[in-house]
Amino acid sequence: MKHMPRVLLVEDEPAIAELVLVNLRHNGFEPVWAEDGIAAQRELDAVLPDAILLDWMLPGQSGLALARKWRADARTKTIPILMLTARGDEPDKVAGLDAGADDYITKPFSTQELLARIRAVLRRRAPEQGSDALVAGELSLDAATHRVTWRGHALKLGPTEFKLLQYLMAHPERVHSRAQLLDKVWGDHVFIEERTVDVHVKRLREALGAAGAMIETVRGAGYRLAAQSTASSGTG
Ligand code: CA
Repeated sequence: MKHMPRVLLVEDEPAIAELVLVNLRHNGFEPVWAEDGIAAQRELDAVLPDAILLDWMLPGQSGLALARKWRADARTKTIPILMLTARGDEPDKVAGLDAGADDYITKPFSTQELLARIRAVLRRRAPEQGSDALVAGELSLDAATHRVTWRGHALKLGPTEFKLLQYLMAHPERVHSRAQLLDKVWGDHVFIEERTVDVHVKRLREALGAAGAMIETVRGAGYRLAAQSTASSGTG
């Protein structure tokens, strides 16, 4: 059986905690809830989680102080910390990241965004685990279940488009020539024209809908998956 990542949620608002716990449970995680820093420390002393979701505003010690404390502790310093905050302004993000948080999520957040970010921090910390799941921006691909979602909506992709997207998401931001893509995605490309790549990229963009802009055309060079979609990306 697959290891269920244990996630410690430190959150004082029961309504938010309940929502997060239910969603984590339904998505293959083993969540543990602590209402404040003292309860969280008790959980950490007992069993180390795979990741910590840490609310910024807590009674007693703040999330920021807790992040600093756990980063300084040899036993907890490698546990990924994802901070939850109601504030979205820049100085707070910087302070949280300076305190050792791995990532940030601003309330209110969607379940899919939260899950994608948890998976991303887990993957960054342990690349050998969860390698089936890829995330780029709000686009997620799960090779194990063959599912692609964007902003939580499932997308339908043909098998070649799926493989193409999987390769691009595994190597984001890099420019891949058509010949490289044929080699990596199609394998034996001796009898396939490079134009075939363009056809499948076009189909992939169509299947991705609004997220299709993430697949950028780099004139004279090939294609690139931009983790952050931009309005000015190529359409060729
Ligand atoms: Ca709070």
